[in-house]
Amino acid sequence: MSHFKIRIGVLALQGDFAAHRKALESAGADAIEVRTSSDLDSVDGLIIPGGESTTMLKLLTMENMMEPLAAFGAEKPIFGTCAGAILLAKEVENPQQESLGLMDITVQRNGYGRQIESRIAQIQIAGKSTEAVFIRAPIIRRVGPAAKVLATYEDSPVLVEQGLHMVATFHPELTHDHSVHRHFTEKVEQHSSINAGKALRGGSAFSDADNPSAAWLPRSTLKLK
Ligand code: GLN
Repeated sequence: MSHFKIRIGVLALQGDFAAHRKALESAGADAIEVRTSSDLDSVDGLIIPGGESTTMLKLLTMENMMEPLAAFGAEKPIFGTCAGAILLAKEVENPQQESLGLMDITVQRNGYGRQIESRIAQIQIAGKSTEAVFIRAPIIRRVGPAAKVLATYEDSPVLVEQGLHMVATFHPELTHDHSVHRHFTEKVEQHSSINAGKALRGGSAFSDADNPSAAWLPRSTLKLK
């Protein structure tokens, strides 16, 4: 554990950012709402919440935040939930749309169809059964070789981590179990202490921790096409 409290931003242009803020605080982080690219300067990690990815894209473009977000993601952890997962994906289908491309995954928007748009399901995370709320959720159709599947539902990945980043197609901020937020908080903590160590030691003392939280869960045995 680090000796400082890290600060995590929640992108607050649209969507359910307030619930993420509370979940982060319960998980032990300082949380602030991020509305401009300069707000990004003061945070160690970022959550992009659920909402409507097309609306978020429009607002991000209007606020000139796409490039700053991509630059932030090149250095610091981002966790995207639902619409946020769509924004982090490399490829978006149904229909295609622009994205940050920080995670090598393909997502299909509104993957569960229009008829049954929302559901609460039981999923297993780290061997523990937990509730997952899906709201007009995307389905992850492909994960790249560097991605690690942490949870599945109906044979599709629903919680995936790759290097600094992670995505959930469900809404962990809407249930009482904050272990997913704790996991992201620890990931951000580890990353910022590694960077603090690098700065102190001139950048050479630590190996490049591509995935500092790799010990959290065993590598999934799920096979995807
Ligand atoms: N269906 C939304 C989209 O495509 C995502 C829904 C959500 O974030 N709960 O952006």
